[in-house]
Amino acid sequence: MDHVFTIIGGGIAGLTTAIALKRIGIDAVVVEATPEFRPVGAGLSLAANAMQAFRELGIADAVIAAGRKIDALTILDQKGNVINRTNTEQVNAKYGISNFSIHRAALHDVLYSLLPPGSITRGKRSCDIEEVGDGYCVFFEDGSSILTNHLIVAEGIHSPIRNKILPASKLRYAGYTCWRGIVKNEKQITTVSETWGTGGRFGIVPLANEQIYWFATKNVKEPGSKLKEFKRSDLAYNFRDYHEPVVDLINATPQEHIIWNDIFDLEPISNYAFGNLVLIGDAAHATTPNLGQGACMAIEDAVVLANCLKKHSNVPDAFRSFQEKRLKRTHEIVKGSWRLGKMAQIENAFLSKARNLLFRMIPQSVYEKQIDDLFNVNFE
Ligand SMILES: Cc1cc2nc3c(=O)[nH]c(=O)nc-3n(C[C@H](O)[C@H](O)[C@H](O)COP(=O)(O)OP(=O)(O)OC[C@H]3O[C@@H](n4cnc5c(N)ncnc54)[C@H](O)[C@@H]3O)c2cc1C
Repeated sequence: MDHVFTIIGGGIAGLTTAIALKRIGIDAVVVEATPEFRPVGAGLSLAANAMQAFRELGIADAVIAAGRKIDALTILDQKGNVINRTNTEQVNAKYGISNFSIHRAALHDVLYSLLPPGSITRGKRSCDIEEVGDGYCVFFEDGSSILTNHLIVAEGIHSPIRNKILPASKLRYAGYTCWRGIVKNEKQITTVSETWGTGGRFGIVPLANEQIYWFATKNVKEPGSKLKEFKRSDLAYNFRDYHEPVVDLINATPQEHIIWNDIFDLEPISNYAFGNLVLIGDAAHATTPNLGQGACMAIEDAVVLANCLKKHSNVPDAFRSFQEKRLKRTHEIVKGSWRLGKMAQIENAFLSKARNLLFRMIPQSVYEKQIDDLFNVNFE
């Protein structure tokens, strides 16, 4: 065999897992498709569950130094009136750690810096696998292949290896499309907000280094639709009736820096472990972004997987134990995020008024309980 442990995919799941395994004495090789690191120009919120995972790995301080603390999430209507404001400080105090926002590139930089040089092989996109004895041969698009005893698949939502071993696994189009951008925080905005309106949703997340990350979503029947051609001016026009500074943020973002993609998730699958192979991160449980939990779950996976490998000397047992610990929580988050998306994306004027009224009436304790459920993670 060329390697004992191989991680395919050097995204948030793959890199965090490599760090977690290194801590327990396992030197895994990470094999990544992109030939060079190209940071995605978008932000990420890291909720307290992800921050606890980083704390378990002893790297929370490095992430905190690159991020910005978030104390509350405010949901607004399109005129800017508050629908709900959930202060997370009390729940955070219970877990002894805050929520943070971070530039994706900054998080990648932190994770890379914690791995020894040479632990990542770049420019190799997996396209197939074959079982070889108890291990696997992974084939790459460039014609090369590697043999490994144990395979951790962290290739993201479109994972070809998952598609090979689970040909019935299905991506579900959520019914909305998304734009993202990062601009200078000219107006010194300090509040994280999400605006629900009849033209779609608009999120504003202050980042470190005086930057603002924004996202916009809009309902559209078919994926890959004509909205792909939407220009910045079309987007600004779409949100013209929204409160300040929605249109200003869109207009301040250079057209070429606006990222567009349709929103999909992975219909929950019932197995993550397959003998000496395990699926983690989006390859296992890609979710819609409504709860801001996709990367958080990937980071949790890394810690739980390392703990399972520490406990079980037999790797397939460790992978099976990982699956047992992760299926329920990840399925619940995927389903909860899907449901929230359906509510938040209501664009019909009458129904959105009714929804806003309902969300204003929900007691604060209910929001806090939901947040507590997300933050309350067991890594053992
Ligand atoms: C609009 C949007 C907003 C989001 N906001 C948040 C948020 O605020 N908070 C949060 O927690 N989550 C958020 N998420 C989800 C988050 O981005 C993902 O859950 C997270 O990136 C998953 O990490 P991953 O490493 O599993 O997959 P990925 O990030 O997709 O990484 C996969 C890696 O594998 C590589 N790869 C792909 N195919 C191959 C192959 N065949 N061979 C080798 N390498 C391969 C890729 O190049 C990549 O480096 C958001 C998602 C979207 C779409």
